[in-house]
Amino acid sequence: MYIYPDARSVVRDLSPDEPVILQRPHAAARAGRFFAEKFPGKSLYAVKANPSPDLLEILWASGITHYDVASIAEVRMARATLPEATLCFMHPVKTASAIREAYFQHGVKTFSLDTHEELAKIVAATTDSDGNAATDLRLCVRLRVSSEYSELSLASKFGIDLADAAPLLQATRQVADWLGVCFHVGSQAMTPFAYVQALDRVRAAVAQASVVIDVVDVGGGFPSVYPGMEPPPLEDYFAIIHRHFEALPIAYNAELWCEPGRALCAEYSSLIVKVEKRRGDELFINDGAYGALYDAAHVAWRFPVQLVGDGPVGVEQEFAFYGPTCDDADYMEGPFMLPGNVAAGDYIEIGMLGAYGCAMRTAFNGFGRGEAVKVADEPMASLYRGDRDDPRQSDNVVSLR
Ligand SMILES: *Cc1c(COP(=O)(O)O)cnc(C)c1O
Repeated sequence: MYIYPDARSVVRDLSPDEPVILQRPHAAARAGRFFAEKFPGKSLYAVKANPSPDLLEILWASGITHYDVASIAEVRMARATLPEATLCFMHPVKTASAIREAYFQHGVKTFSLDTHEELAKIVAATTDSDGNAATDLRLCVRLRVSSEYSELSLASKFGIDLADAAPLLQATRQVADWLGVCFHVGSQAMTPFAYVQALDRVRAAVAQASVVIDVVDVGGGFPSVYPGMEPPPLEDYFAIIHRHFEALPIAYNAELWCEPGRALCAEYSSLIVKVEKRRGDELFINDGAYGALYDAAHVAWRFPVQLVGDGPVGVEQEFAFYGPTCDDADYMEGPFMLPGNVAAGDYIEIGMLGAYGCAMRTAFNGFGRGEAVKVADEPMASLYRGDRDDPRQSDNVVSLR
């Protein structure tokens, strides 16, 4: 497949009427290598952030061997794409048939849970037709932790409260070959302290249950970089997590895991959209709430933008976007900073859409088509450029704009 130098060359060549996804395999590979080499444990890629088989192959080649899958469709796709990968079914609410198929047909041994009912379901679904219970289950009990340091909460849906965790850990220990504790601090955690708080809760749960723990899984939440959200270096997260993990009352050979989604793939993709109409400081573009810009519309996430073109560039001002469908909800307030002379017919590149962006497009209202091409240039911002002298300093965040 041809690799374009950048967005401008794509527009020149295709003059696209539909949105075009730009993929940067080199950026995803760099993120994969970073986690594989620097996280002081094992990194599982959380497939839901972007389930593209191409991306899975890139991450596999860059050293990511474990994958966090959340549905039977993700299990099948990940297994078909990566026959040798270790798949971990980390959704705490699964159907019995999904558990059975994952275990018996796809070699999945690792499952998460947060209730006694789910534990019983997993045991029943992995018992063979002769009535023999599985002896190789790796089970992770999900603790509820605070999301107060994250931009997107995952605190209310899943996880057992600390007060109820000890009996579940003890019951799980009875049937598991290998017992883990996991949690999720929420997505885009803006400070490593989020993990300190959560690991304190793990410490309390393990102490109350007094069971042997084989793995502590700190989940996802590792940030990427967006306008107004410049996190500290990931090295700081890794160092602080490692220090608090080492201080837990667990066996010396217990493993440390994490489940990054966003941090591994945000830099992988951007999107070229076309301005169909301008109305004051509002731009009507051809992608939106039902396309790759779900978060821009629904949680007012700000993504970096730049005008693609050769014309003179005016002074930047704030714009809001409307997407292509016929309802008012297809609106993105931004603000998005673009030259004041932007007009209908112009193209805009919207960056950092590799995570929870290009993966979320729907075909609602007849939109959502469009092709994907590869480009060779740098993403609009990066946590992984590696061209800084001292990673302890905050210039770890390299904004290219
Ligand atoms: C979504 C999810 C992740 C990935 O979260 P990010 O914030 O994208 O890193 C990891 N683990 C579980 C269980 C998830 O549901």
